[in-house]
Amino acid sequence: MTENPTPLLRIDQVAKSFGRTRAVDGVSLDIRENEFFALLGPSGCGKTTLLRMLAGFETPDAGRILLSGDDISPLSPEKRPLNLMFQSYALFPHMTVRQNLNYGLEMERLPKAEIRCRVDETLASTDLSAFADRKPDQLSGGQKQRVALARALVKRPKVLLLDEPLGALDKKLREKMQLELKRLQHEAGITFIIVTHDQEEALVMADRMAILKDGRLLQAGTPEEIYEAPGDRFVANFIGVMNFLDGEIDGGGAFAVDGSRHPVAMRHGPGKAVLAVRPEHASVTAREDGLPVVISDIAYHGLDRVLHGRTRGSQQPLQFRIPADEGQKYSVGQEVKLAFNADKCRIY
Ligand code: ATP
Repeated sequence: MTENPTPLLRIDQVAKSFGRTRAVDGVSLDIRENEFFALLGPSGCGKTTLLRMLAGFETPDAGRILLSGDDISPLSPEKRPLNLMFQSYALFPHMTVRQNLNYGLEMERLPKAEIRCRVDETLASTDLSAFADRKPDQLSGGQKQRVALARALVKRPKVLLLDEPLGALDKKLREKMQLELKRLQHEAGITFIIVTHDQEEALVMADRMAILKDGRLLQAGTPEEIYEAPGDRFVANFIGVMNFLDGEIDGGGAFAVDGSRHPVAMRHGPGKAVLAVRPEHASVTAREDGLPVVISDIAYHGLDRVLHGRTRGSQQPLQFRIPADEGQKYSVGQEVKLAFNADKCRIY
């Protein structure tokens, strides 16, 4: 296949331990040019350690990191064409916004005129021109975040590494900056690798993402691939909302629970099994062999309603999402029968 030429960044069997903690445990990943890539996982899964190894602040115990095919392991952080934007922004408080941006380019001893030109351009693209002469403590949280980003972008790295870049912002601003970051990445044509523990953020921003747990890579793919076909139960639970039902696969290959029967596209031998189904892939059915569920709560979400309930027989919790007007027909305490979209169900 010619689809995937030499990746911009190849992480090859990289491992790092701190004492007895295996922070990163043999991770291999390819990241492509101009990609917005998210490293996602629960606290302590090794995201930051991996990012710090890419930036050169930690040395891997094993494995290689290749940039455009070259091993960058021997290079010190400042010699790497990768720039890390810290969670804390690390702006110089005594310098103006412009001086903060100038600093990195002055260190590179670029001519004054070029510095001015590049800084002006970056201030404009990050909507900061009006704040060029302010100091960081005269800026809002979102503006500081943009300055930190501008300071990294102005150096035109091949890869920008961002550790929880939106962590300090409130929800509204976070959502705005997610789209903003995506736009900037697109315009600058720089590969972004972002660390986040917020799955929604990763789904919104990333072209592709990797899910880590206990230092190991569980799955990498586009948001759609991971949402639609999570490789295991942990990923299924971590990304989006998922219902899990304990039951069994019968002789005909269908999933059976509480006397109900559900055809599933995924093949699985007979025996005990867990069915995973997203709330949007369950619906009320008139069929006799639907799964009896007693509604315990109805939540209105604008366009649709989320109905929460328990299976009548085995008392397993479950939620399903239906259009708001259809949801009006139901009330708490009522029993309905559910069917699932066979193509979207997964068996674990
Ligand atoms: P978070 O989302 O909480 O920032 P993370 O996924 O970024 O977590 P890391 O910071 O990479 O996780 O840490 C991975 C593991 O390595 C954790 O168990 C952590 O306690 C451990 N660890 C990280 N840095 C060090 C260190 N310098 N010394 C000892 N242990 C460390």
